[in-house]
Amino acid sequence: MRFWPILLIALPTIVFADCANNPLYQKLKTMTCNPKQIHLTFDDGPRAVTTPAILEELTKRKIKGTFFVSTTNLVNSPANQALVNTLMQSGQYIASHGHEHNCYDHRYDGNHNMLSKPFTEKEREEQVKKSDDLLNKATNGKFSKQKYGKFFRFPYGRGAMPSPYEIELMKQKGMTIKGADYKEQLAYYRQHSPAMSSISEYGYSHMGWNFDSEDSSYGAEISDDATVEKYLTTTLTSMCKSRDPLLVALFHDIKKLNAKSIGPLIDTAQCLGMSFVSIDETLAKRQTLVDSGVIINKYELTTEKYKELLSTLDEVNQKPKLTCDPKPTGNKKGCYSEYAKKEIPHCQGEDSICVDGNFYARGSLITHTECGIELKRDKIEINQAECKTPSESKVVVPDVIKCYCQETGNDLKLRWNCYDISQVPAVKI
Ligand SMILES: [Zn+2]
Repeated sequence: MRFWPILLIALPTIVFADCANNPLYQKLKTMTCNPKQIHLTFDDGPRAVTTPAILEELTKRKIKGTFFVSTTNLVNSPANQALVNTLMQSGQYIASHGHEHNCYDHRYDGNHNMLSKPFTEKEREEQVKKSDDLLNKATNGKFSKQKYGKFFRFPYGRGAMPSPYEIELMKQKGMTIKGADYKEQLAYYRQHSPAMSSISEYGYSHMGWNFDSEDSSYGAEISDDATVEKYLTTTLTSMCKSRDPLLVALFHDIKKLNAKSIGPLIDTAQCLGMSFVSIDETLAKRQTLVDSGVIINKYELTTEKYKELLSTLDEVNQKPKLTCDPKPTGNKKGCYSEYAKKEIPHCQGEDSICVDGNFYARGSLITHTECGIELKRDKIEINQAECKTPSESKVVVPDVIKCYCQETGNDLKLRWNCYDISQVPAVKI
């Protein structure tokens, strides 16, 4: 009996675009393209008439991008919520583009005219929380559990990419921005951006872009053939000329133009030698993207940074010490501090607060507000933001900062009070 060798033929899993029959490639093929890898990102959606069409083009080509969802689109829209799930199940990464599409820091045009009023700090936090809640609700909590954590993209990039004029303006308004030139100042701003602080609190890092398709200059409904051709030519040309080897490319999935163009754009870019990468391959080069400012990692409050912060409390230490009664009698009382591991005496002339049933004398737990020192939010909420559940606590930095929801102030409102528990006695910050 004869055995015939069985020939195994490996079938290519990627269907290569037919470059020879691609007229757009034939027109552009003399260009040399610097970028080698492109990660596609889509903002402002989902939109029923465009997002599924874009997803279909990506799926056909096994390409995975990131969709920065504007969560106002999810309110009272089971269809759009389902769309977010479909994107996620198709392997696309889901990120937040905030709730309402407003800016998170100053935004001026080239002639120094204000384009829109930024959110206040309180509004920013409400917006981030609302967006986070909606994305988690739509995905049954899967949004927060994605492989690489949560990414946010500020609308218009403000909060991460201020213009030189906007930086100047912030300085005039009293914000410290160090650095000899715009590049240095921008780097400094990114590490101290109040907007970054707001999203960090909800666990977000920021992802901007280093390539803009400039599709914003086209109306959402435009998709005639002549415009598509012009758009493809200009976008591919500027893509080719970009200097970065890895592009995080900004598109909008609410544009009919993209629904029609994204397929040929991908095919032609591949013919030109560029490849499209998923978030895995993109984040393999995370440090490069952090260095260039495309990604800003969420602010982490390290013990070191916190100590630095506390050193600004020197003024407090110069305040005359209060006279404390180590053995209080009568209606005065002391209490045992779990954190300080000792009895806190009653201090003359000071009011007091109670933490989980424990009594704390303010003389021991110095507050910056009491002493007239206003510590700006650095990497953490340290002002007395209001809270809802009495005695609820949260560990902000293990062994360093713990906050409690307490009745404080003359109005006895519930507010977060935070303590440096690494010090004995614990110091209120
Ligand atoms: Zn946007």
